[in-house]
Amino acid sequence: MRVHHLNCGTMHTPGGRIVAHVLLVETADRLVLVDSGFGLADVREPGRRLGPFGRVLGAELDEAETAIRQVEALGFSASDVRDVVATHFDLDHIGGLSDFPHARVHVAAAEWQAAQHPTARERLRYRSPQWAHDPTVVTYTPDGEPWCGLPAARPLDGVDADLALVPVGGHTRGHVAVAVQTDAGRLLHAGDAYFHPSVLGRASAVSGEPRRTRRGLFFTGFEYLVAVDHGLMRAGHRTLAALPDDVTVFSAHDPNEFARLASAAPAR
Ligand SMILES: [Zn+2]
Repeated sequence: MRVHHLNCGTMHTPGGRIVAHVLLVETADRLVLVDSGFGLADVREPGRRLGPFGRVLGAELDEAETAIRQVEALGFSASDVRDVVATHFDLDHIGGLSDFPHARVHVAAAEWQAAQHPTARERLRYRSPQWAHDPTVVTYTPDGEPWCGLPAARPLDGVDADLALVPVGGHTRGHVAVAVQTDAGRLLHAGDAYFHPSVLGRASAVSGEPRRTRRGLFFTGFEYLVAVDHGLMRAGHRTLAALPDDVTVFSAHDPNEFARLASAAPAR
């Protein structure tokens, strides 16, 4: 099983450049995406698709960065992507769904509920035009086989790879990290469970940038600003910090973590 690390959405925020870290997992019979970044329709119609938050994030919106174009560059086609697993439904994570209209979307039940019934504040982050193609959505509660001792949704319905949805809450109502077991070890895509690795209280496995930098200060503040539950958010940091050293943890947006992981040979 091969895992590719893709950046599907460079953004230029006041705190500096960030990425939209997406995994492309090759299983025996299909491709599975973990998150999807921005999609072609976001590039073409950013105002309608992303609303004001797209401008706040400074999304570059380069067609070559979309998951569909990168899947094609690897020699696959859109129909090979049969499943997309979403850490959450924020606009910078699910814009690519509409480029794979036949793929099933796997998401925590609480997150799907939030996206369907957003509060006034949540309407800024959840952009229903991004799922107006009406995909098949498979929802989960964390009562499956545990992952690393944590409650999880596992296995995923009809996916022939060891993937798990691990609730790491606070950023949104149903935010999860996504665990992927590869032959080379365990990956944990932590989504937006943290923005700057310093909040984990240890050097992240793949990025050691200190907090007292412009980037560190901006993103620790930004994380508080956009979280729906600060207590759960901090509990999530502690959960991630306590994971065994052999778990490779990375967030959706840290460019240093992305650069390190993307430059390594694809994990099998
Ligand atoms: Zn995000």
